[in-house]
Amino acid sequence: MTQLLSADDLSRALKRLAHELLEANHGADGLVLVGIQTRGVPLARRLAALIRDIEGTEVPAGALDVTLYRDDLTRRGPLSLGETRVPASVDGRTVVLVDDVLYTGRTIRAAMEAVLELGRPARIRLVALVDRGHRELPIRADHVGKNLPTSAGDRIRVLVEEVDGRDEVVSEPT
Ligand code: 5GP
Ligand code: MG
Repeated sequence: MTQLLSADDLSRALKRLAHELLEANHGADGLVLVGIQTRGVPLARRLAALIRDIEGTEVPAGALDVTLYRDDLTRRGPLSLGETRVPASVDGRTVVLVDDVLYTGRTIRAAMEAVLELGRPARIRLVALVDRGHRELPIRADHVGKNLPTSAGDRIRVLVEEVDGRDEVVSEPT
C-alpha cells in the first residue's frame, strides 16, 4: 500500500480545485455542486465551503446516487442506495459533478442522465479528485485533483474525514 496523497496534499488539491472552478466560471454565480455518492458528497461540500471562504458566496451542494442509472447494474454487486438531493434548481445553472475517482466514465454518464432529468442546466462540468484512466466512454474531467495512471488490477483507496475518519489516498495493488 503506497500513499498517493497525504491529508495536506488532499487539502491543497481541493483548494486549487475551488480556485480553478471559480476561475473557469468567472466567480461563483450559477454554480450548483453535486457530489456523487458516497465520497463525492463530502468533497462537494468542502468545495462549497472553500468557495464561500474565497468569494463570500454560498453555493448549493447536493448529492446524487446514480446506482439505478448505471448501464452495467447486473454486473455489479447488491444495490446500496444513497440519497439523491439537489437543493436548488439546475435550470440555467452550471452543474458541477464531483466524484472521488474517475475510471471508466460510466458513473458520470449515468450522473449526467440523472441531472438532465432534474431540469435543463446551462452546462455540466466534472471535478474528479483522482483520474485513474481506463475510460470506456468519451468522458473527461474539467478539473482533476491528481492524475494517477493505474494498471487494470489496481484500486485506489480514497479516505475522507467525514466517512473514514481521516483524509488520505492510497494505492491498493491486487
Ligand atoms: P467509473 O464509473 O468511472 O468506472 O468509476 C467511477 C466510480 O467508481 C466512482 O464513483 C468511484 O467512486 C468508483 N471507483 C472506480 N474506481 C475506483 C478506485 O480505484 N477507487 C475508488 N475508491 N473508487 C473507484
Ligand atoms: Mg464513488
